[in-house]
Amino acid sequence: MAGQADFRFWGRLSKLVAGAAGETAIAYRFRGSPAVKDSIEALGLPHTEVDMIVIFGRSVGFDYRLQADDQVEVFPFGGEVARGGEVHLSPPLPDNPMFILDVHLGKLARRLRMLGFDCRYRNDYTDSQVIELAQAEGLIILTRDRGILKHACVRQGYLIGSDQVDEQVLEVLDRYRLGNKICPLYRCPRCNGLLKPVAKKEIMHRLLPKTAQYYQNFRQCHSCRQLYWQGSHYLKIERWIRKIEAAAKQ
Ligand SMILES: [Zn+2]
Repeated sequence: MAGQADFRFWGRLSKLVAGAAGETAIAYRFRGSPAVKDSIEALGLPHTEVDMIVIFGRSVGFDYRLQADDQVEVFPFGGEVARGGEVHLSPPLPDNPMFILDVHLGKLARRLRMLGFDCRYRNDYTDSQVIELAQAEGLIILTRDRGILKHACVRQGYLIGSDQVDEQVLEVLDRYRLGNKICPLYRCPRCNGLLKPVAKKEIMHRLLPKTAQYYQNFRQCHSCRQLYWQGSHYLKIERWIRKIEAAAKQ
């Protein structure tokens, strides 16, 4: 039996689904009674982007079976809905989120690490490695690839909208409410290891003469042993961090 349902996508979701601008409803034709989750993904939106599904004013779960003539409204996390009795489909916000980024997001990984956030990244991860690691270790997948997020076993993920790295950083800070959790000089941008203070005398032999002359405080990555200090290039990073802090929603 064939049926048709109308879908409306709200907030950022309207930009992610072709043909869904503002209040425009998309007519979705189906056979039988598919799960609403599968119907939303068939329209191009990964389930990880959905926080609430409302049908005729009632909020439903992903396993709701679509009926002919249903009016379906789909909301992102943080959408302005307060009807009472809502079913929130996004997992609760973690206090200390741990991310895994797909191979195309190396710049974003470095910048989020500069802000102190835990980001697993390798430029040779396959999609299935990303998905398996995320599942095994409770990591949130950041990607621009909808296909990864449509896998049934992916629980937490966010589809990065922008192709500009600073905008990507702000998207992540906003989605996971991290604007007030920025912690510079905490994590190694190169490898994600933690930075620890190190006595200058222990690393003196690794410093160029001018660095040894002008700087007293050093940090060393616990994993890759890279050294960090607040030299002239750090001033540039610091200015960037200030800019991001000012732009991030608290
Ligand atoms: Zn390192």
